Amino acid sequence: MNLLKDAFISTSEGKISLKDILTSDKDYQLQYFFDETHLAMLQMLASLTTVVFKPTVAQLKTYLANGVTDEQYEQALLEIETKWFEEDCFMRSTFPSQSNIAEGPIAKLVSGIECGSSANALGLFSDSNDVSLSCSDCTHVLNYNLHMNIKGECFGPTGATGIRGGGSITTLIAGSTLKETLILNVITSDFYKKNSAINNDAETRYMWDLVPSGDLYLAQHIGLERGLFALAYHLNFTIEEKTAVCHICGHQTNKVAKTFQRVKYTGAYGSTKKGRDNGAGWWLHPYTPRTEKEDGTYAVCARDQNWQSWQELSSYIVGKETDKATVKPAFIINQFQNALSEGKANILIGGNIADQGSITGRVYDLYSMPTSLSKNNRRISQVIDAGLQQKDKLSIAFNKLFGIGYDKKFVGGIKEQAMQRFTANAQQIIQQILLDVDRKEATQLRKDAITALNTEAKAIFRSVQRKYQHDLLMFKALVKGEYSLYQSS
Ligand SMILES: [Zn+2]
Repeated sequence: MNLLKDAFISTSEGKISLKDILTSDKDYQLQYFFDETHLAMLQMLASLTTVVFKPTVAQLKTYLANGVTDEQYEQALLEIETKWFEEDCFMRSTFPSQSNIAEGPIAKLVSGIECGSSANALGLFSDSNDVSLSCSDCTHVLNYNLHMNIKGECFGPTGATGIRGGGSITTLIAGSTLKETLILNVITSDFYKKNSAINNDAETRYMWDLVPSGDLYLAQHIGLERGLFALAYHLNFTIEEKTAVCHICGHQTNKVAKTFQRVKYTGAYGSTKKGRDNGAGWWLHPYTPRTEKEDGTYAVCARDQNWQSWQELSSYIVGKETDKATVKPAFIINQFQNALSEGKANILIGGNIADQGSITGRVYDLYSMPTSLSKNNRRISQVIDAGLQQKDKLSIAFNKLFGIGYDKKFVGGIKEQAMQRFTANAQQIIQQILLDVDRKEATQLRKDAITALNTEAKAIFRSVQRKYQHDLLMFKALVKGEYSLYQSS
């Protein structure tokens, strides 16, 4: 099987090839049991499409407008070395001799399922028995997911941090079809060159062709193709000849993997503390929003279990500046806004919510975006600001509880729970309101957001009031606090 030529992609129509998606007018639906694998597939396929075509902005625009023909695809394959995409070789560098090989069940490559052996690793939200085998086709996306999305800390001392940093948030452009989504997330060579700090003579060979050496992997020496599939482990799967149904894609297979072997690379990327402190530099990963601080660049991660993506949406699209840090949108969002933006697209935000070695939640949210995102992003920030304002008001309303002499932990817990409910419910409300982002004027959109979110805040507040109506001190404090929810903004 070759990833650029053969059918390995699981869809509702059966397994198909990358070429099938890019050259057909049919809209295929990816089929994977876990949204995490689904997200990794979108990242991996868009990156594969990038290395097949290596288009400029102008070329990518023609693919967007006219699609890709059979001949164009075949011609592109003739110009690259497809041998690096054979199934026994893709993203698998050879184990060094005399290395200590760690082995694990493939469930560890689906991070919501099982984390690992480190002291603080927990947070399973599915049963690890649900994923005990994978077809050989799906081993590639599991491997990719390990390198790009799973935190090294989940593997304890045998874990490594990849080029993106551990457990970072992913933002992608979502088109109206799978084909459009892949093309919209292709990285154009000219726009990338302008925005990244890569040297002209940077190494472009894949890491399974030329393993990086030394203690530091300097960002400016890592070319685009090499970085898109950058490795942090030597890795292999044990494949058995056996008939079974794959736990990742649901297709029948006669080549099964149950375990994988790994040895971590010893050098450090600029995504790690060691790399940052020693000047390895941040490699501009195209799907990763980042925070720039005085001491270096960090991938944006979600750490709080109750975190919801809407709160950070505007910073992922337009960026955000505070005294201490600047949040910058992912390259792929910038590329869309500055170089491609014609027509409608949505934004997909996905990733793990991690706390040290534990995975405590998952994010996979789709947002509607206005046509020509570059001109209209004020509409989005106004909706998000409306949400944050209502959240503040709700917080102020509860603060009166702290003045009645009750145990701070007790009243703090009541407030915390209510705030979490608001943040979670606001997620859906905001996604819903943004569906109208093109149909409504900015002022109307903002008004609608305020109305819906204020109603939600009041409903949550009233339910707490009802619960404590027999406690006179608390009830009185809540009545006083309620005022802030009725102030107009
Ligand atoms: Zn499979």
